[in-house]
Amino acid sequence: MNNCLEHTHQIFFEISNMCNKHCVKCPRNFSERKNNNRFGMLSTEVFCKTIDELKEHNYIGDIGFSLYNEPIMDPRLFSLIKYTKDTLDNNCRTHIVSNGHYIDQQMLDELTLIGVDILWISAYTQKEIDRCNALKSNISEFRVLNRLTEPQRNIYNSYTREIISCSEPCYAPLNLLSIDYNGNVLLCCLDYESRHIFGNIYDESLIDIIQKDEVQELYKQLTQGERHLDMCLRCGTHIHIPKYYIK
Ligand code: SF4
Repeated sequence: MNNCLEHTHQIFFEISNMCNKHCVKCPRNFSERKNNNRFGMLSTEVFCKTIDELKEHNYIGDIGFSLYNEPIMDPRLFSLIKYTKDTLDNNCRTHIVSNGHYIDQQMLDELTLIGVDILWISAYTQKEIDRCNALKSNISEFRVLNRLTEPQRNIYNSYTREIISCSEPCYAPLNLLSIDYNGNVLLCCLDYESRHIFGNIYDESLIDIIQKDEVQELYKQLTQGERHLDMCLRCGTHIHIPKYYIK
């Protein structure tokens, strides 16, 4: 078995396209997604098949349940977390990013019990920040992200802004796999309109997708600071490998 996941440390599944909020910095508000009123969900079967595949290949890293969705709205969330934990054991950390709307003390306790390892709450009002900070958490990494004062990060304008000359290495395409609710494996988590698709986990295995020559070559180029895709040429972001996952 080759070490096909050696560069992969985080995998984010957008388990559905549901969200209950319209946060100002979220691309749901200014992208094609805004016009998409159709409800979509990543199939449970395909999600579980992919987790099984990761087990087969001894994946070590994070599993996330969102890209541009609110994962707590999905009634399957607890069973998907349980399946992930039961299958990948201690080799994975489950990671929830939420707008916090549904997170009260009871929900937080339930998420802790089911085995959530990382919970980030994006809070946009002082009241919400205070409320979430007052919660008692035993989750190993619990963070309330203050989106109120955080400086605007121009990370979501990679489709639209002028070409810039950033030559920072970027590890995103293999380091942080981003899978949208239709099963598309994307260039990176900034590809909110799913423009650059490497393959689809309904049709192919995730491992086959990331081993494609075009994906490997693109990764190699980006890690050397070579940006050729239009979206990368307009991007000032560079996603690096988190230190705790350097193998
Ligand atoms: S350079 Fe920017 S757009 Fe390209 S893969 Fe990296 S984060 Fe994504």
